[in-house]
Amino acid sequence: MKAMVLRKKNEPFVLEERPDPKAGSGEAVARVIACGSGLTIHHARSGRVAINYPIIIGHEVLGEIVETGSGVQGFKSGDIVTLHCYLSCGHCRWCRVNREPLCDNLLGFVGRHVDGGYAEFIKLPARNFIHVPEGIDYKNHPAEVAVICDAIATPYKVVRRARIAPLETVAVFGAGGGLGIHMVMMARWAHARVIAVDISAGKLGKCREVGAEAVVDASKENVVEALRDLTGGMGVDVAVDFVSSVSTLEAAAESLGKGGRLVTLGGYSPQPFRASASRLLNGELEIMGSRAFTKQEIIESLDLCARGQVWPLVTETYRLEEAEKVHARLEAGRITGRAAIVMG
Ligand SMILES: [Zn+2]
Repeated sequence: MKAMVLRKKNEPFVLEERPDPKAGSGEAVARVIACGSGLTIHHARSGRVAINYPIIIGHEVLGEIVETGSGVQGFKSGDIVTLHCYLSCGHCRWCRVNREPLCDNLLGFVGRHVDGGYAEFIKLPARNFIHVPEGIDYKNHPAEVAVICDAIATPYKVVRRARIAPLETVAVFGAGGGLGIHMVMMARWAHARVIAVDISAGKLGKCREVGAEAVVDASKENVVEALRDLTGGMGVDVAVDFVSSVSTLEAAAESLGKGGRLVTLGGYSPQPFRASASRLLNGELEIMGSRAFTKQEIIESLDLCARGQVWPLVTETYRLEEAEKVHARLEAGRITGRAAIVMG
């Protein structure tokens, strides 16, 4: 099969001819139809996260099952699938309570520790595949359907985890990014009032198009003051921070009103940030992390898309051979929403 392979950190992709994967016991092989190209996998490309080289990256996949190994139930050739990228054990305490991202025995991630979707075929434990429901037009929208498993599932989880309620005010930091813009959409879907915070005027315009009621240009305004002004001095109910630098986290914490919740999803920086204990106490504020999504949250995200309630924003598609081009645009922050590779 053809595959775009990363041989070392920060090196260009190399188009290789690899042996077609064969399904072992408990495994299945899918023909890749499309694979998302977001910032998460760009972090893998640029070596900012742990990775097993050489590797085929890509974890937002739409595919068609072509082979199942012994003992596999629930999948057959021809099934249309997407995937859950956490290689969780399925039987520890955290897996049992439906919090697979916290798995005690996590073996890693698709596209970082085992080969992912930048190839003609992908082989995984069968239980990592998820059926795409009928009613989703994957034939006409392969790129969009491929990214649901992360771009929609991640903010869908935040809606629940932060308990976003109708008419609450939600500030999204990094709202113009690939996940941020979908967070704007999902908070709007939850009937919240959404304020988009970003440093790109063009992307803030797009945030308005997908549901932001107000925007704050952090390159020009004092974010905390702007959010106080936009909420009549009350502060926001929920601040979701996809940037999660020290300065954005401190601004996000400072912008919370009484009963406010701060959610961080950046997480690549180990640096601590400061928040006032008296503000936490007196306002009963909450600070929380939200890590990816469970398999069930992907299934529900697919269902939401099948019902036409939300739909991912993919603005650029490329052929497999053009992976280098899309990653140059990701590095430069030029992509609005998501980009994706669509196989020929
Ligand atoms: Zn587990």
